[in-house]
Amino acid sequence: MPSFLSQKDYLDRKELSAIQLERLQRIVRHAYEHSPFYTKAFDAMGLKPEDIRALDDIVKLPFTQKTDLRDNYPYGLNAVPRSEIVRLHASSGTTGKPIVVSYTRDDLETWSETAARCFLMGGVTPDDVAVISYGYSLFTGGMGAHQGMERVGATVIPQGGGNSEKLLMLIQDLQITVICCTPSFFVHLMEVAGKVGFDLKGSSLRHGFFGAEPWTDEMRRHIEEGTGIIAHDIFGLSEIMGPGVAGGCDAHAGLHIFEDHYYPEIVDPATGVALPPGEEGELVLTTLDKWAMPLLRYRTHDITRLHYEPCSCGRTLVRMDPIRRRSDDMLIIRGVNLFPSQVEALLLPIKGIVPHYELVVTRTGAMDDLEIRVEVTPELFGDQVSVLEALQKEISSKIKGMIGINARVSLVEPGAIARSDGKTRHVIDKRFNK
Ligand code: ADP
Ligand code: ZN
Repeated sequence: MPSFLSQKDYLDRKELSAIQLERLQRIVRHAYEHSPFYTKAFDAMGLKPEDIRALDDIVKLPFTQKTDLRDNYPYGLNAVPRSEIVRLHASSGTTGKPIVVSYTRDDLETWSETAARCFLMGGVTPDDVAVISYGYSLFTGGMGAHQGMERVGATVIPQGGGNSEKLLMLIQDLQITVICCTPSFFVHLMEVAGKVGFDLKGSSLRHGFFGAEPWTDEMRRHIEEGTGIIAHDIFGLSEIMGPGVAGGCDAHAGLHIFEDHYYPEIVDPATGVALPPGEEGELVLTTLDKWAMPLLRYRTHDITRLHYEPCSCGRTLVRMDPIRRRSDDMLIIRGVNLFPSQVEALLLPIKGIVPHYELVVTRTGAMDDLEIRVEVTPELFGDQVSVLEALQKEISSKIKGMIGINARVSLVEPGAIARSDGKTRHVIDKRFNK
């Protein structure tokens, strides 16, 4: 018998659709009446909340883009008075201003609920001891996983990111059974364990919930075989809520989206036209009951497919394929979002740099490695090594200041970077087969 929270994973489709429609109509009205951004967008289209009579009418609603959040920074998309907002988070690594997201108390409750349902789906119980090794910061990972685990009733240890050796000690001493972190950090932890002679396989650890970045079936096998734990996928994004928008079940047949709160569609990334079930395209999400910052038809840029056929685990919630790629050029490096255009904006004003560069992303062991290859002018290239080294350092520290991660900077000779007749490829991502 599923727990009270998980019962919503098994609703009959008709019943679920009725809940979705009622919530959609309510949130559309709320957005139209209280979010100046949507009032303007609806009025420009001649659309009224009462035009949404059926779930299929969702296609009449305007899309919301990441740029809308940036342009309306920080509170322009809010639909409640400031006094009702109890938490802010921000999305990582954007130029200058981050994307700020707001939550009411009820929003936090919904977020906790869906994160909890994700952990329950993976088999976590109040008997578990869970360590949260996502960062606790503006990033939604730490707090989101924390709240969800508390909602399940597990014992929660707010360790935060990094600090692998201490984490191993805690696993041992506190008999930790569940870990939440990025998949790449966990693989790194496995390596550290190997180095210091810590036997993860013989440890108390049973489950890992890995998300915030794409990972592969090979990585799952590597983790499961190397440690004996069960590796679960957890998906989310700050704009929609945070971790726990969708999660993997035991059937390993994709991720169930908690669609009683987050309504999914798949559209053609180029045209925005809605695609039939089963076709691959861009995931678009509508928050059905997020009050502080409702988002209608948010373009995630994540590429996937939706499957409505019943899952062998018995849940009726739609499944999406794991996210392996995006329709834009956003890179996720060690959990941090980065657009090549940010690097470009930083490089171009520097004297001696020409506008030819590429970002090469590799994975050494578990850690993502970013190399920025930049061409310099012939004059500079012929200059003394010390001048080039100083320039390299300057670029590295600017990158670190902007996105908070270390990148290797290689200054290359004029003409070294391949020219293209068409769309220039600024990114060479060697981590995944695209
Ligand atoms: P968060 O701060 O919650 O990571 P961001 O907005 O910074 O949210 O990043 C969200 C993006 O991270 C998603 O749109 C997706 O591209 C990626 N992502 C999150 N979880 C996963 C996952 N489990 N698998 C693949 N990609 C993921
Ligand atoms: Zn399932």
